[in-house]
Amino acid sequence: MQHIHDAIRNISDFPKPGIQFKDITPLLADPAVFKQTIDCFADRHRTNRIDVVVGIEARGFVFSSALAYALGAGTGMVRKPGKLPYKTYRKTYELEYGTDTVEIHQDAFLPGQRILIIDDVLATGGTVAATTALIEENFDVEIVEIDFLMELGFLQGREMLGDRPVFSLLSY
Ligand code: AMP
Repeated sequence: MQHIHDAIRNISDFPKPGIQFKDITPLLADPAVFKQTIDCFADRHRTNRIDVVVGIEARGFVFSSALAYALGAGTGMVRKPGKLPYKTYRKTYELEYGTDTVEIHQDAFLPGQRILIIDDVLATGGTVAATTALIEENFDVEIVEIDFLMELGFLQGREMLGDRPVFSLLSY
């Protein structure tokens, strides 16, 4: 776990003053550490019969696709508005200033499928809470777990997810 922690670079004041950005590009560029990261999630879910691993745009896709491949699952995409070409469901949520929206294709899942959601960072939790609601409100599927590479615990994003199962590899 130390190797994974050490491969995440902290960038101060990005994208705006006061934010410490967790840059995962050194982790992704290191073959051993990237593999170790995906293996941690894959080992966790090996016997969970996951049908689809859903990534949240954009850095979530890096993890969702590699993890789906490792598990022999499919992968799905939750995207920002206007990016998905087919019929979509959408969910708008509040930001500190204004609103944002997430979208998913209407045929993303089959009834009864077992879904794993993954993203790189759990910060305020707004994005993943909207993603979870988007899926729960529109599909008859089971969200097995909501996973993150890292959780910024001081932002208490986990509270946005209620009693749903949440797992983070690293916590800050
Ligand atoms: P949030 O909705 O606040 O939980 O975060 C939304 C998205 O912003 C997450 O998917 C993260 O990828 C990204 N994010 C938020 N805070 C950070 C941070 N400090 N460093 C890197 N990415 C972040």
